[in-house]
Amino acid sequence: NAPEQARPDDLAGKVAIIAGAGSRASGIGNGRAAAVLLAQSGMKVALVDSVAENMTETRELVEGAGGECLVLPADVSRVEDCEAVVAAVVDAWGGVDVLFNNVGIVGPSGSVVDVDLDAWDRCFDINVTSMVLMSRFVIPHMRKRGGGSIINTSSIAGVLGAHPSVIYSATKGAVTNLTRAMAAMHGPEGIRVNALVPGFLHTPMVHSQGLSEEDRVRRRNVAPVGAGGVEGSGWDVGELVRFLASDRARFISGTNIPVDGGLAAVI
Ligand code: NAD
Repeated sequence: NAPEQARPDDLAGKVAIIAGAGSRASGIGNGRAAAVLLAQSGMKVALVDSVAENMTETRELVEGAGGECLVLPADVSRVEDCEAVVAAVVDAWGGVDVLFNNVGIVGPSGSVVDVDLDAWDRCFDINVTSMVLMSRFVIPHMRKRGGGSIINTSSIAGVLGAHPSVIYSATKGAVTNLTRAMAAMHGPEGIRVNALVPGFLHTPMVHSQGLSEEDRVRRRNVAPVGAGGVEGSGWDVGELVRFLASDRARFISGTNIPVDGGLAAVI
Protein backbone atom coordinates (compact mmCIF):
# COMPACT_ATOMS: atom_id res chain seq x y z
CA ASN A 1 0.00 0.00 0.00
CA ALA A 2 2.92 2.37 -0.55
CA PRO A 3 1.77 5.65 -2.04
CA GLU A 4 2.36 5.96 -5.75
CA GLN A 5 5.41 7.99 -6.65
CA ALA A 6 4.68 11.33 -8.31
CA ARG A 7 3.97 10.53 -11.94
CA PRO A 8 6.85 11.60 -14.15
CA ASP A 9 6.45 14.17 -16.90
CA ASP A 10 6.06 11.81 -19.84
CA LEU A 11 5.62 14.32 -22.66
CA ALA A 12 9.24 14.81 -23.74
CA GLY A 13 9.85 13.57 -27.28
CA LYS A 14 6.17 12.94 -28.00
CA VAL A 15 4.33 14.50 -30.95
CA ALA A 16 1.35 16.87 -30.84
CA ILE A 17 -0.73 18.35 -33.64
CA ILE A 18 -2.47 21.62 -32.78
CA ALA A 19 -5.23 22.66 -35.18
CA GLY A 20 -5.94 26.35 -34.72
CA ALA A 21 -2.43 27.07 -33.49
CA GLY A 22 -2.46 30.70 -34.52
CA SER A 23 -4.01 33.67 -32.89
CA ARG A 24 -5.32 36.59 -34.80
CA ALA A 25 -3.09 39.63 -34.53
CA SER A 26 -0.94 39.65 -31.46
CA GLY A 27 -2.30 37.93 -28.44
CA ILE A 28 -2.44 34.59 -26.73
CA GLY A 29 -5.16 32.36 -28.07
CA ASN A 30 -5.72 28.85 -26.76
CA GLY A 31 -3.76 27.14 -29.53
CA ARG A 32 -0.75 29.44 -29.19
CA ALA A 33 -0.59 29.00 -25.41
CA ALA A 34 -0.93 25.22 -25.67
CA ALA A 35 1.82 25.08 -28.29
CA VAL A 36 4.23 26.94 -26.01
CA LEU A 37 3.40 24.89 -22.91
CA LEU A 38 3.64 21.53 -24.73
CA ALA A 39 6.97 22.60 -26.23
CA GLN A 40 8.19 23.57 -22.75
CA SER A 41 7.43 20.00 -21.72
CA GLY A 42 9.61 18.73 -24.56
CA MET A 43 6.93 17.82 -27.10
CA LYS A 44 7.37 18.29 -30.83
CA VAL A 45 4.46 20.45 -31.96
CA ALA A 46 2.93 20.66 -35.42
CA LEU A 47 1.23 24.02 -35.81
CA VAL A 48 -1.79 24.02 -38.15
CA ASP A 49 -3.85 27.06 -39.11
CA SER A 50 -5.64 28.32 -42.22
CA VAL A 51 -4.02 31.74 -41.83
CA ALA A 52 -0.27 31.20 -42.16
CA GLU A 53 0.75 34.52 -40.61
CA ASN A 54 -1.26 33.70 -37.48
CA MET A 55 1.36 31.04 -36.77
CA THR A 56 4.43 33.29 -37.01
CA GLU A 57 4.30 34.48 -33.42
CA THR A 58 3.40 30.98 -32.20
CA ARG A 59 6.48 29.56 -33.94
CA GLU A 60 8.69 32.29 -32.45
CA LEU A 61 7.40 31.58 -28.95
CA VAL A 62 7.80 27.80 -29.36
CA GLU A 63 11.34 28.14 -30.67
CA GLY A 64 12.10 30.72 -27.97
CA ALA A 65 11.13 28.06 -25.44
CA GLY A 66 13.67 25.71 -27.05
CA GLY A 67 10.93 23.73 -28.81
CA GLU A 68 10.79 22.05 -32.20
CA CYS A 69 7.85 22.75 -34.50
CA LEU A 70 6.44 22.26 -37.98
CA VAL A 71 4.35 25.04 -39.50
CA LEU A 72 1.58 23.60 -41.69
CA PRO A 73 -0.91 26.03 -43.23
CA ALA A 74 -4.16 24.14 -43.85
CA ASP A 75 -7.92 24.52 -43.82
CA VAL A 76 -8.98 21.70 -41.52
CA SER A 77 -12.56 21.79 -42.76
CA ARG A 78 -11.18 20.20 -45.96
CA VAL A 79 -10.59 16.48 -45.99
CA GLU A 80 -7.55 16.63 -48.29
CA ASP A 81 -5.86 19.26 -46.09
CA CYS A 82 -6.31 17.11 -42.96
CA GLU A 83 -4.91 14.06 -44.71
CA ALA A 84 -1.89 16.06 -45.93
CA VAL A 85 -1.21 17.53 -42.47
CA VAL A 86 -1.18 14.15 -40.75
CA ALA A 87 0.96 12.63 -43.51
CA ALA A 88 3.50 15.47 -43.17
CA VAL A 89 3.71 15.04 -39.38
CA VAL A 90 4.11 11.27 -39.57
CA ASP A 91 6.71 11.67 -42.31
CA ALA A 92 8.71 14.10 -40.15
CA TRP A 93 8.33 12.55 -36.71
CA GLY A 94 7.05 9.00 -37.19
CA GLY A 95 3.66 9.22 -35.47
CA VAL A 96 1.21 11.25 -33.41
CA ASP A 97 0.50 11.09 -29.67
CA VAL A 98 -1.71 14.12 -29.05
CA LEU A 99 -4.27 15.97 -31.18
CA PHE A 100 -5.61 19.32 -29.99
CA ASN A 101 -8.66 20.22 -32.10
CA ASN A 102 -8.93 23.90 -31.26
CA VAL A 103 -10.22 25.54 -34.43
CA GLY A 104 -13.36 27.57 -33.98
CA ILE A 105 -15.20 30.57 -35.38
CA VAL A 106 -18.11 32.41 -33.81
CA GLY A 107 -20.10 32.67 -37.05
CA PRO A 108 -23.08 34.94 -37.52
CA SER A 109 -25.40 35.74 -34.63
CA GLY A 110 -29.17 35.87 -34.63
CA SER A 111 -32.39 33.93 -34.63
CA VAL A 112 -33.01 30.71 -36.55
CA VAL A 113 -35.80 32.66 -38.24
CA ASP A 114 -33.21 34.59 -40.21
CA VAL A 115 -30.49 31.98 -40.35
CA ASP A 116 -28.26 31.91 -43.42
CA LEU A 117 -27.96 28.21 -44.18
CA ASP A 118 -24.63 28.58 -45.98
CA ALA A 119 -23.17 30.28 -42.89
CA TRP A 120 -24.72 27.55 -40.72
CA ASP A 121 -23.04 24.83 -42.80
CA ARG A 122 -19.71 26.67 -42.85
CA CYS A 123 -19.74 27.06 -39.08
CA PHE A 124 -20.43 23.32 -38.61
CA ASP A 125 -17.70 22.47 -41.14
CA ILE A 126 -15.11 24.52 -39.25
CA ASN A 127 -16.20 23.92 -35.66
CA VAL A 128 -17.27 20.26 -35.79
CA THR A 129 -16.41 18.47 -39.06
CA SER A 130 -12.78 19.63 -38.78
CA MET A 131 -12.49 17.65 -35.52
CA VAL A 132 -13.94 14.55 -37.15
CA LEU A 133 -11.59 14.84 -40.13
CA MET A 134 -8.43 15.44 -38.13
CA SER A 135 -9.34 12.57 -35.79
CA ARG A 136 -10.09 10.29 -38.74
CA PHE A 137 -6.52 10.59 -39.99
CA VAL A 138 -4.79 10.70 -36.59
CA ILE A 139 -6.49 7.74 -34.86
CA PRO A 140 -4.89 5.03 -37.06
CA HIS A 141 -1.47 6.39 -36.01
CA MET A 142 -2.46 6.52 -32.33
CA ARG A 143 -3.53 2.85 -32.62
CA LYS A 144 -0.05 2.00 -33.87
CA ARG A 145 1.41 3.64 -30.75
CA GLY A 146 -1.06 1.86 -28.46
CA GLY A 147 -2.99 5.01 -27.56
CA GLY A 148 -3.09 8.77 -27.48
CA SER A 149 -4.98 11.82 -26.27
CA ILE A 150 -7.45 13.89 -28.30
CA ILE A 151 -8.55 17.22 -26.85
CA ASN A 152 -11.43 19.15 -28.42
CA THR A 153 -12.25 22.79 -27.68
CA SER A 154 -15.92 23.22 -26.86
CA SER A 155 -17.26 26.31 -25.09
CA ILE A 156 -19.58 27.36 -22.31
CA ALA A 157 -21.85 28.09 -25.28
CA GLY A 158 -21.81 24.33 -25.91
CA VAL A 159 -23.28 23.43 -22.54
CA LEU A 160 -25.54 26.47 -22.03
CA GLY A 161 -27.64 28.34 -24.58
CA ALA A 162 -25.73 31.34 -25.89
CA HIS A 163 -27.72 34.40 -26.85
CA PRO A 164 -27.40 35.62 -29.62
CA SER A 165 -24.84 33.12 -30.94
CA VAL A 166 -27.29 30.36 -31.84
CA ILE A 167 -25.18 28.76 -34.57
CA TYR A 168 -22.03 28.84 -32.45
CA SER A 169 -23.92 27.33 -29.52
CA ALA A 170 -25.23 24.47 -31.69
CA THR A 171 -21.76 23.67 -33.05
CA LYS A 172 -20.14 23.67 -29.62
CA GLY A 173 -22.95 21.48 -28.23
CA ALA A 174 -22.07 19.03 -30.99
CA VAL A 175 -18.41 19.12 -29.92
CA THR A 176 -19.42 18.36 -26.34
CA ASN A 177 -21.24 15.16 -27.24
CA LEU A 178 -18.96 14.18 -30.13
CA THR A 179 -16.26 14.06 -27.46
CA ARG A 180 -18.21 11.69 -25.23
CA ALA A 181 -19.10 9.37 -28.12
CA MET A 182 -15.51 9.31 -29.41
CA ALA A 183 -14.25 8.53 -25.91
CA ALA A 184 -16.62 5.58 -25.65
CA MET A 185 -15.64 4.30 -29.08
CA HIS A 186 -11.87 4.61 -28.78
CA GLY A 187 -11.27 4.12 -25.06
CA PRO A 188 -10.62 0.38 -25.50
CA GLU A 189 -7.79 1.30 -27.87
CA GLY A 190 -6.10 3.46 -25.24
CA ILE A 191 -7.21 6.69 -26.88
CA ARG A 192 -8.59 9.22 -24.43
CA VAL A 193 -10.89 11.97 -25.73
CA ASN A 194 -11.77 15.03 -23.66
CA ALA A 195 -13.22 18.47 -24.26
CA LEU A 196 -12.32 21.84 -22.80
CA VAL A 197 -15.19 24.15 -21.97
CA PRO A 198 -13.80 27.69 -21.81
CA GLY A 199 -15.89 30.55 -20.46
CA PHE A 200 -14.98 34.13 -21.31
CA LEU A 201 -11.28 34.30 -22.05
CA HIS A 202 -9.25 37.28 -23.08
CA THR A 203 -8.09 35.95 -26.41
CA PRO A 204 -8.05 37.48 -29.90
CA MET A 205 -11.33 35.74 -30.74
CA VAL A 206 -13.17 37.62 -28.03
CA HIS A 207 -11.52 40.91 -28.94
CA SER A 208 -12.55 40.37 -32.57
CA GLN A 209 -16.19 40.35 -31.48
CA GLY A 210 -15.81 44.09 -30.88
CA LEU A 211 -16.98 44.04 -27.28
CA SER A 212 -17.68 47.37 -25.67
CA GLU A 213 -15.95 48.26 -22.41
CA GLU A 214 -19.33 47.74 -20.73
CA ASP A 215 -19.52 44.17 -22.13
CA ARG A 216 -16.01 43.47 -20.94
CA VAL A 217 -16.79 44.71 -17.44
CA ARG A 218 -19.94 42.57 -17.38
CA ARG A 219 -17.95 39.51 -18.44
CA ARG A 220 -15.28 40.19 -15.85
CA ASN A 221 -17.97 40.42 -13.21
CA VAL A 222 -19.71 37.16 -14.06
CA ALA A 223 -16.66 35.05 -14.86
CA PRO A 224 -14.38 34.91 -11.83
CA VAL A 225 -16.68 33.27 -9.32
CA GLY A 226 -13.93 31.20 -7.81
CA ALA A 227 -10.95 32.87 -9.34
CA GLY A 228 -10.45 35.90 -7.13
CA GLY A 229 -10.91 38.46 -9.89
CA VAL A 230 -8.49 36.78 -12.30
CA GLU A 231 -9.27 37.14 -16.00
CA GLY A 232 -9.00 33.87 -17.90
CA SER A 233 -6.69 33.60 -20.89
CA GLY A 234 -5.28 31.09 -23.34
CA TRP A 235 -2.69 30.12 -20.72
CA ASP A 236 -5.44 28.72 -18.49
CA VAL A 237 -6.62 26.54 -21.36
CA GLY A 238 -3.05 25.59 -22.27
CA GLU A 239 -2.32 24.29 -18.77
CA LEU A 240 -5.32 21.96 -18.97
CA VAL A 241 -4.27 20.80 -22.44
CA ARG A 242 -0.83 19.94 -21.08
CA PHE A 243 -2.38 17.88 -18.27
CA LEU A 244 -4.85 16.06 -20.52
CA ALA A 245 -2.09 15.34 -23.04
CA SER A 246 -0.04 13.61 -20.37
CA ASP A 247 -0.35 10.12 -18.91
CA ARG A 248 -0.95 11.90 -15.61
CA ALA A 249 -4.52 12.13 -16.93
CA ARG A 250 -4.57 8.42 -17.87
CA PHE A 251 -7.92 7.76 -16.08
CA ILE A 252 -9.67 10.84 -17.50
CA SER A 253 -11.68 10.44 -20.69
CA GLY A 254 -15.06 11.51 -22.07
CA THR A 255 -15.12 14.65 -19.94
CA ASN A 256 -16.08 18.24 -20.68
CA ILE A 257 -13.93 20.27 -18.30
CA PRO A 258 -14.80 23.92 -17.62
CA VAL A 259 -12.07 26.58 -17.74
CA ASP A 260 -14.32 29.45 -16.79
CA GLY A 261 -13.51 30.79 -13.33
CA GLY A 262 -16.62 29.06 -11.98
CA LEU A 263 -19.07 30.69 -14.38
CA ALA A 264 -21.02 27.52 -15.29
CA ALA A 265 -21.48 26.67 -11.61
CA VAL A 266 -23.63 29.71 -10.91
CA ILE A 267 -27.22 30.73 -11.63
P1 NAD B 1 -8.34 32.52 -32.16
O1 NAD B 1 -9.19 33.15 -33.20
O2 NAD B 1 -7.20 33.26 -31.60
O3 NAD B 1 -7.80 31.11 -32.71
C1 NAD B 1 -8.50 30.32 -33.61
C2 NAD B 1 -7.60 30.00 -34.80
O4 NAD B 1 -8.30 29.06 -35.66
C3 NAD B 1 -7.28 31.23 -35.67
O5 NAD B 1 -5.87 31.41 -35.77
C4 NAD B 1 -7.91 30.88 -37.02
O6 NAD B 1 -7.14 31.36 -38.14
C5 NAD B 1 -7.94 29.36 -36.99
N1 NAD B 1 -8.90 28.81 -37.93
C6 NAD B 1 -10.17 29.22 -38.17
N2 NAD B 1 -10.73 28.45 -39.12
C7 NAD B 1 -9.79 27.53 -39.50
C8 NAD B 1 -9.78 26.46 -40.43
N3 NAD B 1 -10.85 26.18 -41.20
N4 NAD B 1 -8.65 25.72 -40.56
C9 NAD B 1 -7.56 25.99 -39.80
N5 NAD B 1 -7.52 27.00 -38.89
C10 NAD B 1 -8.63 27.76 -38.74
O7 NAD B 1 -9.40 32.10 -31.04
P2 NAD B 1 -9.33 31.57 -29.52
O8 NAD B 1 -10.09 32.51 -28.70
O9 NAD B 1 -7.97 31.15 -29.10
O10 NAD B 1 -10.28 30.30 -29.70
C11 NAD B 1 -9.83 29.03 -29.90
C12 NAD B 1 -10.95 28.06 -29.58
O11 NAD B 1 -11.48 28.33 -28.28
C13 NAD B 1 -12.13 28.13 -30.54
O12 NAD B 1 -12.58 26.81 -30.81
C14 NAD B 1 -13.18 28.90 -29.76
O13 NAD B 1 -14.48 28.59 -30.18
C15 NAD B 1 -12.90 28.41 -28.36
N6 NAD B 1 -13.40 29.28 -27.28
C16 NAD B 1 -12.88 30.52 -27.09
C17 NAD B 1 -13.40 31.30 -26.04
C18 NAD B 1 -12.86 32.67 -25.77
O14 NAD B 1 -13.38 33.33 -24.85
N7 NAD B 1 -11.88 33.13 -26.52
C19 NAD B 1 -14.41 30.81 -25.23
C20 NAD B 1 -14.91 29.54 -25.46
C21 NAD B 1 -14.39 28.77 -26.48
